Amino acid sequence: MYTYEEAVRIDRKDPLSSFREEFYYDKDTIYLDGNSLGLLSRGAEANVYELLNSWKKYGIDGWTSGNHPWFYLSEQLGKASAPLVGAEKDEVVVTGSTTVNLHQLVATFYKPKGKCTKILADELTFPSDIYALQSQLKMQGYDPSIHLKQVKSQDGLTLDETEIIMEMDEEVALIVLPSVLYRSGQVLDMKALTIAAHERGIPIGFDLCHSIGALPHELSEWGVDFAFWCNYKYVNGGPGSVGGLYVNAKHFGKTPGLSGWFGSDKKKQFDMEHEPTFAGDVGAYQIGTPHVLSAAPLLSSLEMLNQAGIQHLRERSLRMTDYFMTLIDHELTSFGLTISNPRGEQARGGHLFLEHPEAVRICKALKAEGIIPDLRPPSGIRLAPAPLYNTFAEIWQTVQTLKKIMEEKSYEQYERGRGVVS
Ligand SMILES: *Cc1c(COP(=O)(O)O)cnc(C)c1O
Repeated sequence: MYTYEEAVRIDRKDPLSSFREEFYYDKDTIYLDGNSLGLLSRGAEANVYELLNSWKKYGIDGWTSGNHPWFYLSEQLGKASAPLVGAEKDEVVVTGSTTVNLHQLVATFYKPKGKCTKILADELTFPSDIYALQSQLKMQGYDPSIHLKQVKSQDGLTLDETEIIMEMDEEVALIVLPSVLYRSGQVLDMKALTIAAHERGIPIGFDLCHSIGALPHELSEWGVDFAFWCNYKYVNGGPGSVGGLYVNAKHFGKTPGLSGWFGSDKKKQFDMEHEPTFAGDVGAYQIGTPHVLSAAPLLSSLEMLNQAGIQHLRERSLRMTDYFMTLIDHELTSFGLTISNPRGEQARGGHLFLEHPEAVRICKALKAEGIIPDLRPPSGIRLAPAPLYNTFAEIWQTVQTLKKIMEEKSYEQYERGRGVVS
């Protein structure tokens, strides 16, 4: 019933399949790690050369010359990012990195007063976010062990929105949560959480690292106060690509917590006054000179996502993960591999999360077979079919290869230690 030919047929029928040829991929490899680092596209490569050339050709005048003057690049890319997050064009800017943008937004939105001093986060979020929140608390003279509240998970994999809302009490001054949990791939109900936070008068922001480019958002409509993300995962902006920052228009004019001259009103920036005049939109939250060459790939990467349409990509992604789970249920459950991501479409993000006590060695065996998974020690294996470039045929092949590895126990020939980067 689930044959290779059937998978190839599905690929042939899907209009989004043509995007694959825009990317560089190795024909002998199945790349399922696009949720950690997306692949390079031809367009993104050309953009880097184009901006290098504008440096070669114009020198300093590249700031205002060429097809993509560097002085306006962050705003230009912000506009192109807006449809991905459901924001107005002047609510998004491409700047900084996830962690730096989080620092900026907490410095701007965290206003402790009296007994209302706590930051609410969760115990499953990405460590960098927690480090940033801890240090922001310390800078204000608060002890993170008391003032950082991390909502507990009952099963170690997922969070319950009702329990998060129960923690939104009168001592909470700020809420920072992920849109999609980086391990289990659970999608949190951002709309319901935002409504609940605002009923209690608490500002709320989201880390979109694992949802940007994978699923649609309606940040403006939901009234989310702020958001931040990286662009090197599903957005395919390249290693260390510049991140994204969103601030709801109702907050324009709020003084940036971390100020710098690139947050200036563009017309005033080169007046070089010591009294800053900040931009009247999201641009105010930039700090220093943009990393032009690391932003360059986003010119095409964002255009490609917008061309495909984020709704269509989400729909294809759901079909891919559904097909993946069906094949795993069919072929692999007798080997002790558990599907630990949420199964329902509302709560399922862009990647699958499998668990097995031998995950470390299974990942090594997969890599030896030309399949690139993403290990989350000690027992997690993330598999992300990127809707822009992975295929149903690759999913079929992955399940067959995994079945062979489990049947033959070929993973037993590998050592248990993980690499420095996993
Ligand atoms: C990838 C990721 C980060 C990485 O932060 P950088 O500042 O880009 O290194 C942070 N948070 C989450 C949830 C992530 O998935």
